[in-house]
Amino acid sequence: MITNENNDSLNLFSNLSEKDLAKNRIAELVNLIRDYDHAYYVEANPKIDDREYDRLFKELQDLESKFPEFKHENSPTSKVGGETIDGFKPVKHQKPMLSLSNTYNREEVEQFDKKISELLEGKSYQYITELKYDGVALSLRYIDGFLKIAATRGDGTTGDDVTHNIKTLKNIPFNVNNLNQDFYRLKNFEVRGEVYMLEQDFLKINELRIENEEKPYANPRNLTAGTLKLLDSNQFAKRPIKFVAYYLDTEDIELSSHFENILFLKKMGFPVSEYSQKCENINEVFDYINLWEKKRNELPFQIDGVVIKLDSIHQQKILGSVARSPRWAIAYKYEAESAETILKDIILQVGRMGTITPVANLEPVFLAGSTISRATLHNADFIEQLDCRIGDTVIIQKGGEVIPKVVSVVIEKRTSDSVKYKFPEFCPCELKTKLIRPVGEVNYYCNAPDCPWQIRRKIEHFISRNAMDITGGEKVVDQLVSEGLISNIADLYELKNKKDELLKLQRWGDKSVETFLNSIEKSKNQPFKRVLYGIGIRFIGEGAAKILADNFKNIEALESASLNDLTSVYEIGEKMAKSVIDFFADEKNKTIIKRLKDAGLKFENDSILEQSGKFIGMTFVLTGELDSMSRNEAKAKIEQFGGKVTGSVSAKTNYVVAGTNPGSKFDKAKKLNVKIINEEEFLKILNE
Ligand code: NAD
Repeated sequence: MITNENNDSLNLFSNLSEKDLAKNRIAELVNLIRDYDHAYYVEANPKIDDREYDRLFKELQDLESKFPEFKHENSPTSKVGGETIDGFKPVKHQKPMLSLSNTYNREEVEQFDKKISELLEGKSYQYITELKYDGVALSLRYIDGFLKIAATRGDGTTGDDVTHNIKTLKNIPFNVNNLNQDFYRLKNFEVRGEVYMLEQDFLKINELRIENEEKPYANPRNLTAGTLKLLDSNQFAKRPIKFVAYYLDTEDIELSSHFENILFLKKMGFPVSEYSQKCENINEVFDYINLWEKKRNELPFQIDGVVIKLDSIHQQKILGSVARSPRWAIAYKYEAESAETILKDIILQVGRMGTITPVANLEPVFLAGSTISRATLHNADFIEQLDCRIGDTVIIQKGGEVIPKVVSVVIEKRTSDSVKYKFPEFCPCELKTKLIRPVGEVNYYCNAPDCPWQIRRKIEHFISRNAMDITGGEKVVDQLVSEGLISNIADLYELKNKKDELLKLQRWGDKSVETFLNSIEKSKNQPFKRVLYGIGIRFIGEGAAKILADNFKNIEALESASLNDLTSVYEIGEKMAKSVIDFFADEKNKTIIKRLKDAGLKFENDSILEQSGKFIGMTFVLTGELDSMSRNEAKAKIEQFGGKVTGSVSAKTNYVVAGTNPGSKFDKAKKLNVKIINEEEFLKILNE
């Protein structure tokens, strides 16, 4: 069967009967969906968006129910769509981990309710509505009160053993034996929930990747899925992964209500969602759906819908399951948020390493909580495939992804004024260097080292908050470079001799010049790891810069390190190592470093004494149990860095470190608005 771009079958074989067409289309859909499943579940790199996938899936379900004789034995509609992965130990689930039937259609939610009412023969029932966290399902099996196995859903019957990774998570209790209330004393049980990532953490990781000119992750869900599959738990522990529990199963006690199970999990120390709600009828379910449809952008994590579950466990059992999903629950999915606007222009962005990225310049439009005037167009091939032309009406989306993207062109609205886009051959800078596209790569590059755009990006990176933290931004850098006052990062430290010239610039006065120059002076105190990050060695992000600074202690040692020396540092791969060597082989870079050294920047680690004062003047309060150390050890560490630990919380407390089962100090800190940090965050500031 031939399909168009949207995978819709084209009715070219009009001489075939409806049955033949259905048979062919079923076979085609089965193959397509298997392929998409593999990309999504195994490679964590989806080929199409979820809405399109769900549309194909529904088409297959409908065809199969109309022509059951053509249903394949292993159709994706009768099994959960994941696989186990090589390198992980397989774990057989005690009870299958199912998917959820889903819909984008409110009428189908009403039908779901009607069906439940029929199957329960008029008995009363309640629903629990929950947010549908857009993450990855996880099963935690406890034996004798200890976490024994953490496993992914896999194909629903067998998952991958990811215990090594999950044990690094601080918000999952590993031992529940220390709970003293008899009521909570469960020994053998299973908890299921979702691992996910906060949007701000995801953005931070992506920002770094973009800065390092690496491909950003598509969305928090894919990054979470990829992270879970890391074989090295040290790497896993560095990723800001969260867990939320939404299911409990045990034979130790009789379970009667899903809502109570969740409260019970909370008392046992599991993180549960604070947004769940009991609904007496389907109207209240719709209120919940409407509420979160409006407010989903205010959540710190992404959801793709809500889940509606029958509350009574007894009634859940009466309803049971069909092949891949329980009949007592349904997911109502929200449409990915999209908006229609005009593509005014396509501009090229030049990264600090010369990567060229086409960006859509749009008629501003309001989408998912903010006004959007730019969206990514990825690369030349993408523009070609989409055939988007200047002046076209386009659809932009901010669905799973956080960075808006152009997803399609509204061809019906194309006018004769729209202009086909030809990808430029030259860099948009004054030098107009011919762009190159290395074989096998999707990106074009400008490889002129003195490209003024790359120069601007390099300086912007150097002064950025996580590097030297100098005031100013894109506009300031642009002005200073355009006026010829700076052309590299070392020139910044000579600006103090050009005060008069600065004062002559538009929008600058005594005060702003002074603030700017002071901020440059202050940056000389930034530690070596930040300087190393700021000088912008390709592939050396913030994390890698810290590792190199920790291992090599000073720039001379780093400069003379061989490939072997570098790669023998755990976490420094060959690509990074080669990039470090190339950087120091370039005379221009050496000159810049010499000038920065002469200016007084730190090119070696601070002495232990200096480092150890980081908590001077700060007060900490400890509450609850920490997994990685005793309270006394935590106290000693805080004191070692100059901080003070007190027994009670006051408005002057800087941090309350809350471990598992925190006491009343936690509530007091909340009341007084004192910053509460968990163990993970505490370890982070200790090791910073
Ligand atoms: P699903 O994600 O639609 O729903 C089931 C999952 O929801 C559960 O396994 C659980 O992980 C999660 N969940 C989140 N919050 C929950 C809560 N409160 N209670 C219960 N479960 C909760 O189903 P799925 O089988 O994991 O994936 C199928 C979906 O994945 C498809 O509908 C599609 O949208 C997407 N998908 C996309 C592609 C693609 O190529 N884009 C390919 C395969 C699947």
